[in-house]
Amino acid sequence: MFESRNPDVRNVAVLGSTGSIGGQTLDIIRLFPDRFKVSVLSTGSAVDRLADQAREFLPECVVIADKARVASLQERLAELPIDVLDGESGLEEAAALESTDVVVTAVVGATGLRPTVAAIKAGKRIALANKETLVIAGSLICPLAAKHDSEIIPVDSEHSAIFQCLVGEEKESIERLILTASGGPFRERALETFSQITKEEALRHPTWQMGPKITIDSATMMNKGLEVLEAHWLFDVDADAIDVLVHPQSIVHSLVSFVDGSTKAQLGVPDMKVPIQYALCYPERWPADHPRISWHDVDDLQFRKPDPAKFPCLGLAFDALNAKGATPAVLNAANEMAVALFLQDKIGFLDIPSLIERTMNDLEDEGSATIEDLFHADRRARSRVQELANAQVH
Ligand code: MG
Repeated sequence: MFESRNPDVRNVAVLGSTGSIGGQTLDIIRLFPDRFKVSVLSTGSAVDRLADQAREFLPECVVIADKARVASLQERLAELPIDVLDGESGLEEAAALESTDVVVTAVVGATGLRPTVAAIKAGKRIALANKETLVIAGSLICPLAAKHDSEIIPVDSEHSAIFQCLVGEEKESIERLILTASGGPFRERALETFSQITKEEALRHPTWQMGPKITIDSATMMNKGLEVLEAHWLFDVDADAIDVLVHPQSIVHSLVSFVDGSTKAQLGVPDMKVPIQYALCYPERWPADHPRISWHDVDDLQFRKPDPAKFPCLGLAFDALNAKGATPAVLNAANEMAVALFLQDKIGFLDIPSLIERTMNDLEDEGSATIEDLFHADRRARSRVQELANAQVH
């Protein structure tokens, strides 16, 4: 009744397979057809793309979050032996699927939290590409992962870099974590012109090809702020021992300095396939012909402090980390809401940090002991941003 499992084959569940990281995860799986098998694929609403992926990879199950489109997906996969699940509960069920070894959490935003919890409770290895999971609920997720023996391997390039620098090191040896940032498209732009920044300008990232939400987060540098929170939880390092440096070349993906005065860094061409593959193969490294840096052509690696006046979102993230409790969940939800409003042309670029800051100031912390408390904070933050934005327009 059950197929016997080949221990050399890793079964991979790709949650959010139709997005940018999900698609690149499938590119890695295509490189090693004898070593990986896809167990789950999922999408928010991209029926056609998911159906094409399902035909190619023949997973045990697929999930579509948008319940209105489940019938259309079922129809497209009717002749194949693939279970079709839907909605939030479907994604949670799929995340815990028995045959899966590694769950890649590439779902965007706060919706990634519940399936990640389900996968952790099932003891899966997590290739964490959904940074919101730790930003919102790091205080609950990290002890839960320890309890269920679930390894969390970061996919985010900076955290993968730090993780790689820390292989073989003791926690007590860490002095500082240094996250690098490209600085986004507005690194050199004059602050006086920030109020005129358009959506099209903000969506044009100089080095990384990513989805729209994270691209706006890079333009405001909130992305780096969320990464500071993520690094705090992943590596158990306090806010005052985490630095951010703008490094326009995006070759040094992050650094760790140690108590003996030594510093390690991880370097490479900016290509997400490398950290994705590392998370899937860890602790091994498998040969692949991803682009290499030709070191003799590298003559300039710059590092400088980010300008806090241009990028107030970074400071807000440090404030949220220091406040702890539900404040990081409020920061994250207010940011998601503000970015969505900006992408709908409802607010300006400078309204993003101001709406987040006002929301953080307005909302009392009503508790953070459970995931439900954090979702409650998330909902309150979203509606507060909406109220503030409405009041601004009228
Ligand atoms: Mg990153």
